[in-house]
Amino acid sequence: MNSLFASLPTTVFETMSALARAHDAVNLGQGFPDDPGPLDVRQKAAEAVLNGWNQYPPMMGVPELRRAVAAHYRDWQGLDLDPEAEVMITSGATEAIAGALFSLIEPGDEVVLFQPLYDAYLPLVRRAGGVPKLVRLVPPHWRLTEEALAQAFSPRTRLVLFNNPHNPTGRVFDHEELERLARFCTRSDAVLVSDEVWEHVIFDGREHLSVLALPGMRERAVKIGSAGKIFGMTGWKVGFVCAAPALMRVLSKAHQFLTFTTPPALQHAVAYGLAKERDWFLSTRAGLQRSRDRLAAGLSSIGFNVLPSAGTYFLNVDLAPLDAALRDEAFCRTLVERFGVAAIPVSAFYAEEAIDTVIRFCFAKADSTLDRAVERLEAVS
Ligand code: GLN
Repeated sequence: MNSLFASLPTTVFETMSALARAHDAVNLGQGFPDDPGPLDVRQKAAEAVLNGWNQYPPMMGVPELRRAVAAHYRDWQGLDLDPEAEVMITSGATEAIAGALFSLIEPGDEVVLFQPLYDAYLPLVRRAGGVPKLVRLVPPHWRLTEEALAQAFSPRTRLVLFNNPHNPTGRVFDHEELERLARFCTRSDAVLVSDEVWEHVIFDGREHLSVLALPGMRERAVKIGSAGKIFGMTGWKVGFVCAAPALMRVLSKAHQFLTFTTPPALQHAVAYGLAKERDWFLSTRAGLQRSRDRLAAGLSSIGFNVLPSAGTYFLNVDLAPLDAALRDEAFCRTLVERFGVAAIPVSAFYAEEAIDTVIRFCFAKADSTLDRAVERLEAVS
């Protein structure tokens, strides 16, 4: 077989989790919590299965969930969405991203992406015929600068695939950076597709600002969210897409032929979950923030250079100050094979000119798991 996809390696998350299992390692690689998720939401899903919500639901999603998504984003992000015309449910955010690329661009259109980038983005852009234009974010600040944007945007830019809060850097882009991005999108007349799956996983009192709330973006932005990330149940694969009706009509055409629908029992449970009281979301955040601080303190105490993390399940460590010769991929392999801790080399998130001295740890784990990882890593330093 000689296709674009035939030449792709297996995703780093799958590879690292398999290595972690083989070496009985503490898995701080692939981003998933080791907590089973909120009991009441899981109970709702079980009840919905038992009550017979098992046939094809409406293609756009069950009405209860579409209304719950609109209400949730009104309460949390001040957005005014019409659940009938502007909200669609997908089988995870990745389906939503693939669908947006397949339906909104034509072969040869330029697509702006941000490096480091989540590993699914680039193969999907290429498969859709897009010509990738990469904006480079640089540690430790990973800022969205005027110069970097100016290099990637052109009058041929049709679509921008953005991610905020940002995986793998843990960056939450600020108001000024987001408005700068919006200006570039308007100038190029491009659609802004914004992967906001980490919108609830933000720390230190931050508030999420959706691209849909930015000046000029209401009609040209597509917001993508994920119940898996909001409730810490990453296998659920229930995503939400929000966009103005003209865009939504196009996006729905991709969804109808990709997965068509999403398991209705899970949709009912998510509708229930999104209406949970404010405190639940805030205390979930606070718990993850404590885990971030625990891992950061542990890693710093044994000599790692921990970079700031404002959101997501991840924090990064810069290896450069430890030993200029260390390369992230080799280091991660040694970590998992010899020390029993799995992490993700950040170079896996680059298409070109990779920064290869940074590694990513997932802190969405029980204290005992984080402590065990730090104990094992003590032997490295
Ligand atoms: N989003 C997860 C992460 O960044 C991985 C998802 C996957 O395994 N494909 O770790």
